[in-house]
Amino acid sequence: MTHFIPQNLPDRIRHYIDGELVDSVGGSTFDVLDPVSNTTYVQAAAGRQADIDLAVASAKRAFDDGPWPGMKNRERARILNRIADQVETRDAELAELETFDTGLPITQALGQAQRAAENFRFFADLIVAQRDDTYQVPGAQVNYVHRKPVGVAGLITPWNTPFMLESWKLAPALASGCTVVLKPAEFTPLSASLWAGIFEEAGLPKGVFNLVNGLGEEAGDALVKHPDVRLISFTGETTTGQTIFGNAAKHLKGLSMELGGKSPAIVFADADLDAAIDSTLFGVFSLNGERCTAGSRILVERSIYDDFVSQYAERAKNIVVGDPHDPKTEVGALVHPEHYAKVMSYVELGKGEGRLVAGGGRPAGLETGNYVAPTVFVDVKPDARIFQEEIFGPVVAITPFDTDAEALELANAVKYGLAAYLWTSDLKRAHTFAHGIEAGMVWLNSHNVRDLRTPFGGVKASGLGHEGGYRSLDFYSEQQAVHISL
Ligand code: NAD
Repeated sequence: MTHFIPQNLPDRIRHYIDGELVDSVGGSTFDVLDPVSNTTYVQAAAGRQADIDLAVASAKRAFDDGPWPGMKNRERARILNRIADQVETRDAELAELETFDTGLPITQALGQAQRAAENFRFFADLIVAQRDDTYQVPGAQVNYVHRKPVGVAGLITPWNTPFMLESWKLAPALASGCTVVLKPAEFTPLSASLWAGIFEEAGLPKGVFNLVNGLGEEAGDALVKHPDVRLISFTGETTTGQTIFGNAAKHLKGLSMELGGKSPAIVFADADLDAAIDSTLFGVFSLNGERCTAGSRILVERSIYDDFVSQYAERAKNIVVGDPHDPKTEVGALVHPEHYAKVMSYVELGKGEGRLVAGGGRPAGLETGNYVAPTVFVDVKPDARIFQEEIFGPVVAITPFDTDAEALELANAVKYGLAAYLWTSDLKRAHTFAHGIEAGMVWLNSHNVRDLRTPFGGVKASGLGHEGGYRSLDFYSEQQAVHISL
């Protein structure tokens, strides 16, 4: 198999601080691997306290003395729209870099730029259309709410669809008038290196956007603990979120946490079975299963269980696993050998916890690279670790149920509560069930396509706070009440 290597790889990946690409103070670097050859293709600057100090100082100067926080919303929106245009022109380039660095199939990486661009356009529209709140007590008082950006925001992001998830934080933070320091995931720093050029082309003032690469325990930790960083928006694992929560306590920082998931898809006997099978396959095997909202537990009503399982297993066996850059590939290579080892350990564990009906290891013919065959375990009991724990790979657990009450109990029987998917043609049951589910987001008879105005976030161990639409702007804004007596 020929291994595709993009033409335009940088010779090294650097930080971007105060409008300049820079190496780490002290020059330290870390290795970045590609997930097909698992060899180092570039060195990235490994940020530490001194680099974070410089980046935060730059963001603080841009906040205290620069034009960005005080700019009219309409002017800021114009720059955000130019950013969106710049992002969109890089769709093909971004897809190649993302596919190379993350192992995401190229057909799924294409279009990530459009999604990222939409995030900027959406928040540009939102700040222009934003209404200010006023409350009158007739004859006595007028009160209004004065919004202002909070300050320097620290943005910490994971390695799955990294560029798009970065845009999800960058767009509302910048729209609100904050200045930022972004710390992208160390497994996948490549696509983030496009942001500096995009922001410069779009005319974002110097110092508003800063980027520090590095390990979570070093660069991420220093960002979280920095006293001049007022907010942390974090997406990643629940355990990392807990550490950050503790470290942010000293300075009482604003926190938004988008964490892990183990989301159920519940299929009732009256569901459109073909649509449910299509969607539940997509739900856990698209994006290599490295998706926070993956429907990684499927609960199926017993009367259709055997039929569902046999059709599902056949379809899973036919999924094409292969080189991420091949347009025929549906599941590519997992991001990193460490993550591959973790997913494979769950595959082995599952063989003792459920009945294997598809996959179960490395696909034949793919002897190197982080490839895992789409793996389906059935008859999985709720106390199994593969039912309870986030695997974050192409592995699904299927469990039968007999009654609505049992389905709800199984759906809620994990510590997570990010998303849920329901398949039924009974409207009343759909809504009643949706309201009973402990999940931040529920999709009824549908894929997880989002309307950007809706809240995004989880409950229980899946997160804290909601982003999406006005909720994101609220997070990055102070809301000061001004009271006037009449
Ligand atoms: P991770 O928690 O290992 O790392 C995420 C980021 O945090 C990285 O940039 C990392 O360097 C940084 N980090 C690590 N330790 C840190 C520390 N002590 N202080 C500060 N920063 C630190 O997560 P990951 O493996 O990159 O991503 C996969 C996880 O992200 C999965 O659990 C997935 O469900 C979750 N995720 C959630 C959502 C959501 O919206 N809920 C979206 C995507 C991914």
